[in-house]
Amino acid sequence: MKVLGIETSCDETGVAVYDTALSGAAGLRAHAVYSQIALHAEYGGVVPELASRDHVRKLLPLVRQTLAEAGLGVRDIDGVAYTAGPGLVGALLVGAGMARSLAWALDKPAIGVHHMEGHLLAPLMEDADPIHGRPEPPFVALLVSGGHTQLVAVDAIGQYQLLGETLDDAAGEAFDKTAKLMGLPYPGGPQLAALAETGTPGAYRFSRPMTDRPGLDFSFSGLKTQVLLAWRDSDQSERTRADIARGFEDAVVDTLAIKCTRALALRQAQDERCNTLVVAGGVGANKRLRAKLAENAAQHGGRVCFPRPALCTDNGAMIAFAGALRLQAGQHDDAQVQVTPRWDMATLAPVARESGM
Ligand code: ATP
Ligand code: MG
Ligand code: FE
Repeated sequence: MKVLGIETSCDETGVAVYDTALSGAAGLRAHAVYSQIALHAEYGGVVPELASRDHVRKLLPLVRQTLAEAGLGVRDIDGVAYTAGPGLVGALLVGAGMARSLAWALDKPAIGVHHMEGHLLAPLMEDADPIHGRPEPPFVALLVSGGHTQLVAVDAIGQYQLLGETLDDAAGEAFDKTAKLMGLPYPGGPQLAALAETGTPGAYRFSRPMTDRPGLDFSFSGLKTQVLLAWRDSDQSERTRADIARGFEDAVVDTLAIKCTRALALRQAQDERCNTLVVAGGVGANKRLRAKLAENAAQHGGRVCFPRPALCTDNGAMIAFAGALRLQAGQHDDAQVQVTPRWDMATLAPVARESGM
């Protein structure tokens, strides 16, 4: 089954074709992302109306380009998957409208995908590990993106239980805001991470918020304030900026790692098979986070899985893949253009999985 995936929940237009006849990374026949970063840069954040209009401009050409790269005609598509939420309502409607119209014209099923389920399942689209195979539920997922920081218990595909989440800023948001207050251009998260590579570990030490009490929730907004004060009272040199970036990154990475270990221990006490951590979302591209979680997994005899960095941030591939799993299980939505800007993942229906994907 060849599924066209369309992502337009925020400021990236993503399109992909996933073919379930080919397993793992080979199933991804083509994917393309157009980022609106330059469009929003002068405003220092995403302007919803501009985002919707740009999706209108870019989506159809990107669909054509992606199909051409996959060597497919539009009639070769067996189903269409699109992000139905959560996200910006106008931006979501552009993708949903296009996906629905296409499916209707082709007389093929279409399905609205939960953006965070897309992120969560992205690591399962990668090639199976030669020793451990592909991650199978039960596992714990750490979703770390621009709008979310969540620990989720995954008992089956489509069956998600929230274990903990951020009480204020998401991890990616904290990276972006911290970068901004030290004068880095929007969106600063990846640049802050790059700068941290050159910083001296330990030159600045910030707290590991909420790790001194039980529970799996996070709070990152206080960390941003600590950076603000440190930066304000410093010489504001390039060297200092890098040192503070390193101190901030280490604090976020340690905090995430501590809570992941805690979540895995909790789940493993209930089901000893649950020793796998799946990480997804934009901050999952962070090198230090990847290294730290791999180190922890090795120490605890567990396993950690990530998508390749390009599939951590928003993309159409994860939507095509998540949609393909559901379409293959016979699920689809009514021919109605409907989006859900706020959508709780726990309300999703479980997916009866076919083998081989
Ligand atoms: P959500 O998925 O919650 O709706 P989003 O789609 O905006 O939010 P993503 O595209 O998954 O978020 O990720 C973007 C976020 O990831 C940004 O906040 C960005 O700063 C952050 N990010 C990307 N690369 C890195 C990196 N290497 N280190 C730290 N943060 C990063
Ligand atoms: Mg984005
Ligand atoms: Fe996202």
